[in-house]
Amino acid sequence: LLKNLMPSSSGGNKNDLTSNWNRADFEWSPKVQKALNEIFKLEKFRPLQLETINVTLSKTDCMVIMPTGGGKSLCFQLPAVIDTGITLVVSPLVSLMEDQLWMLKTLNINAETLNSSCSKEHVKYIQNEMVDKNSNLKILYVTPEKLAKSKIFMNKLQKMYELGRFKRLVVDEVHCCSTYGHDFRPDYKFLGVMKQLFPELSILGLTATATQSVIDDIKKILNISKCVLFKASFNRPNIFYEVKQKPVNNEEFINELANLIKKKFPQQSGIVYCFSQRESEQVAQDLSSRGIKADCYHANMGATERSKVHYKWLKNQVHVIVATIAFGMGIDKQNCRFVIHHSLSKSLENFYQESGRAGRDGEPAHSILFFRFGDVFRQSTMVFTEQTGLTNLYSIVNYCINNKTCKRKLIAQHFNDDIWENKGECNEMCDSCKNKAQNQIEKVDVYQEANLVLGILDKNSNKSDKRLTANKLAELVLSEINSKNKKSDTYPNNLNLNEIETLILTMLMNNYLKEDFHFTPYNTICYVIPGQLARHLEHDDHFYIDLIRKNQAVQNKKIIREEVKVETKKESSPKKEFTTKKRSMVDEIDLSGDHE
Ligand code: ADP
Ligand code: MG
Ligand code: ZN
Repeated sequence: LLKNLMPSSSGGNKNDLTSNWNRADFEWSPKVQKALNEIFKLEKFRPLQLETINVTLSKTDCMVIMPTGGGKSLCFQLPAVIDTGITLVVSPLVSLMEDQLWMLKTLNINAETLNSSCSKEHVKYIQNEMVDKNSNLKILYVTPEKLAKSKIFMNKLQKMYELGRFKRLVVDEVHCCSTYGHDFRPDYKFLGVMKQLFPELSILGLTATATQSVIDDIKKILNISKCVLFKASFNRPNIFYEVKQKPVNNEEFINELANLIKKKFPQQSGIVYCFSQRESEQVAQDLSSRGIKADCYHANMGATERSKVHYKWLKNQVHVIVATIAFGMGIDKQNCRFVIHHSLSKSLENFYQESGRAGRDGEPAHSILFFRFGDVFRQSTMVFTEQTGLTNLYSIVNYCINNKTCKRKLIAQHFNDDIWENKGECNEMCDSCKNKAQNQIEKVDVYQEANLVLGILDKNSNKSDKRLTANKLAELVLSEINSKNKKSDTYPNNLNLNEIETLILTMLMNNYLKEDFHFTPYNTICYVIPGQLARHLEHDDHFYIDLIRKNQAVQNKKIIREEVKVETKKESSPKKEFTTKKRSMVDEIDLSGDHE
């Protein structure tokens, strides 16, 4: 995976900065190399690991942005091992800490964790170790809550500092301290006082979140404005990114999915990500009954059963894991060849992490996302209560419907990956670039149709029983276009249902439309209403969207009209799509997944 990562840093001359820190002639360098080989039993460093280790060993504040699986843990574990004193690691999840502790124990590294489930005796023991200069404790993991809420612990830390035993503060998943991030944890804010209390302490922050607003915010909160910032490229050159239209009919879809896996990835390891636990169970069953070795995995399964499934997958006894986002943390199978999204993720960031589990070995791998209109609104009823839920959701919707821009570029832009943006290439490793090469994309002015969308909404706006779901809206637009076009060519673009859906989503993401959520005792229903910019549309003369069109079909309108009719029929049956059953869904959906 990472042989292609190019290191960089913020500000200054990038190459200078990394090459300055990439050296092996520091006083600690021999120890570093020895620890890598003999204690961690690794051959060589991955990009930016040595740089980070050197910065933090020189007592300089540092922040590292590296994709999940890049190897951030080693950046603080190795310095901790060769240093005297204790490295304090703040980590948001007990399960994350336990994974790391277990790993460290197998390497005979002395590490402990302090969290709410520790016994009194154990707490006492650790508190003693902290201030005992003969102790061999190297790494202490704590939750942010421990720091923010325990005065006794802070008191011990202060003593540890005075004794010169508090070597560095590591903040793992450091994006959790920013409200701009996707995983804000109020107690992370408390970390802001650390620099005040311990001015000599060096801080190392690590995350896979790279949006600029988050990075700036973190620096401010932690008081580390002068830190050295390292950022790895997020590009995964060996993954082919693709979005496929998901059939409305479920039977049809599962057949397509099964065929895809059988034909394209025979006997190969992969993951299918599903929206809910129930869906993952169903899909696993459906794939199994079609001759694919598939097992499901979700948070409600119990730890033993989950590790059993995981183990079988690692050993290739099962080919496909059908999972919710609970299948994430610590998944490091090198030869996972494909990640299929049964429906869209809740953000582009989540999608990147999930699809990134394919091709860790650097060999060709596939990310295939099955997209359908209804899934957007199924997701939105789940995420709209989160602070940035809808914004995040629209980032992945944009990825799904933007069939002109390189998928890699969309990801790079999202992560501010200027390294890739400056010199990266896709090499036709995404469907957008491939389609472009085949010249199928057409820029279509759908100004009239956009007005029609708003017109239909206006007609229904003041009657509460006439509120429209997105699905209904799309259907009405389609039938209006069809009936007008029967008499004359009022809407010469002849948009089909998929294209109308793309139009509606584009309007939604650009504030011409807005989602409007209503609670009933059992579900959340999402309606579509005019958005903030709806009135601006009148003043524009054009509204462009990019569509994949086969040229000769556009000329032969009759053919298209017939296609449209067929699709209307198909579409009109599963109307329930949008009204997600809130209650049952809430406990069904895995909110516990990782978004490192
Ligand atoms: P991150 O925290 O960035 O998501 P981890 O620190 O959990 O990543 O590391 C991911 C995997 O990479 C782990 O299995 C780890 O053992 C492995 N790894 C880390 N550094 C190296 C290295 N230099 N060589 C080989 N494997 C490594
Ligand atoms: Mg990590
Ligand atoms: Zn591309």
